[in-house]
Amino acid sequence: MRIVLHICCGVCAAGVVERLTVEGHQVVGLFYNPNIYPAEEYERRLEVARRVAGELDFHLVIGSYTPDEWFQATSGLENEPEGGKRCSVCFWLRLKKTYLYLLEYGGDAFTTTLTVSPTKSAAIINQIGSEIGGDRFLLRDFKKKNGFKRSSELAEKWGLYRQHYCGCLYSIKSDCYSGRCISQIMPVGQDSHFSHSSCNVECVML
Ligand code: SF4
Repeated sequence: MRIVLHICCGVCAAGVVERLTVEGHQVVGLFYNPNIYPAEEYERRLEVARRVAGELDFHLVIGSYTPDEWFQATSGLENEPEGGKRCSVCFWLRLKKTYLYLLEYGGDAFTTTLTVSPTKSAAIINQIGSEIGGDRFLLRDFKKKNGFKRSSELAEKWGLYRQHYCGCLYSIKSDCYSGRCISQIMPVGQDSHFSHSSCNVECVML
């Protein structure tokens, strides 16, 4: 089958694309992740995805980076825990775009690398994908059969950058980013979600 694969990051894509290719599918990757914050992190993850596309020789399409759309869609869900309602909206946005790509440019089915993550519910992702695309959504749980382990092996082999948080602003709430306290990279109006006292890592302030 020709499968349009939503790619959340290069590391996750590594094991998933390898598996789909071994199964005999032709993969077109779509990197569409308006959730990723800040822009420099987006560029870093995109670069890794490009690297993996080169290693595994598949076509990679770069979606537009529209963080404003993401912030608008998740407004009011800032304090949801990971795996909660904000994540469902986040999945929906990215899978909907992948389905629209499939309709416009062709293909037999679409799916996502998101289920390779041990922290993400394949049941929720598969449900959202099916609601969007019916039976054209390929129901998978790529973490099964050591899927995450295989992605990790390839990441290590190729020396890929591995992120330390899921992607959105709210998923880095208690961490530091690139040596800067998270409070220094927040957009205006978002600073109420974070405080230095909630940070459990010793920040290196620039
Ligand atoms: S934690 Fe991850 S899946 Fe959930 S909203 Fe943030 S980026 Fe999206």
